[in-house]
Amino acid sequence: MDRFSFDRQGRVPTQDLTRRALLHRAGALGAAAATLAVFGPGPTRARASQGTPAASPAAGDTQSYRFAVGGFTATLVTDGTAAFPDPTGILFPTAPPDELARALRAHGAPNPWPEWVTPFTPLLVETGRERVLIDTGFGPGGAPSAGRLLTHLAALGVAPDEIDVVVLSHGHPDHIGGATDGAGEATFPNARYLMARAEWEFWTDRARIEADVAPGPFRDLQLGAAETHLPPLRDRIELIGDGAEIVPGIAAILAPGHSPGQLVVDVASAGARLLYGADTVAHPIHLEHPEWRTVFDIYHPEPSLGTRRRILNLAAESGALLSAYHIPFPGLGRVTAAGDAWRWEPVAPQP
Ligand SMILES: [Zn+2]
Repeated sequence: MDRFSFDRQGRVPTQDLTRRALLHRAGALGAAAATLAVFGPGPTRARASQGTPAASPAAGDTQSYRFAVGGFTATLVTDGTAAFPDPTGILFPTAPPDELARALRAHGAPNPWPEWVTPFTPLLVETGRERVLIDTGFGPGGAPSAGRLLTHLAALGVAPDEIDVVVLSHGHPDHIGGATDGAGEATFPNARYLMARAEWEFWTDRARIEADVAPGPFRDLQLGAAETHLPPLRDRIELIGDGAEIVPGIAAILAPGHSPGQLVVDVASAGARLLYGADTVAHPIHLEHPEWRTVFDIYHPEPSLGTRRRILNLAAESGALLSAYHIPFPGLGRVTAAGDAWRWEPVAPQP
């Protein structure tokens, strides 16, 4: 069976993307097949994959990074990694080649750049009263090198039934894939689940997804995740908007563009502040060239570019830490103004 797949090292083979794209255009690939291929075959495999060691050591695997935000304890917990071909086509598809070459050189990235190995980095915040988990990783049945969030939470002594609040920053597979077990049960049985209303309404409306997301294997992956993980949450999800208080000290900032209702999460305690940036930026080069969208940013240039500028400006002016889900683990940095753009200053050692 032809399927969009990650190989044993968590790589998406180039030829797989190409073949799948061709199949999609030919109308040969049904959404049901995509769902099964990416997120099936169900809970048996789900349990197995949670505990199976990586086929090869993946950067960031088994790691967590704990730090204080005032009186809160924040822990960035990796879900693992996956590798994608054609990084510049994914991260910077609109960048002028000569400017892109300069930027890659300045960041020590190879050019041509054969493979983007990206982490998936959810955040756990312990306020002293509540445990708040922001995003759930790829979950079972995605890349074999990902879906390890529960294992890594267990290593921290945190069981799924001890999570009080789950915030889904947006509806992409690497953020909602661990929200349920893939067979209709919420992964975190005692948690309130929160998502922006605009995001929920988009990812539960197949016609809107098909209208706004370019066809191809990534859309199939996104549709499969949304249709697997969101309907089981219908009765428990709390739909929130800009400025909503999640728990005291943690608030939502509506940050549309990458997706219709992406949330940035604002964590503040005792004068310290952390912005969970989700996918507002995916690479440090995006701070220097905020106009370079990724292939996953649905709405561009606006509101995507406006959101980037607003969040980066907020981080720079407030001195808040910023976490970025796809910047090498732990993806934690400060944002400094540089001309009419910004620069990423990592605050933790990179692997
Ligand atoms: Zn993402």
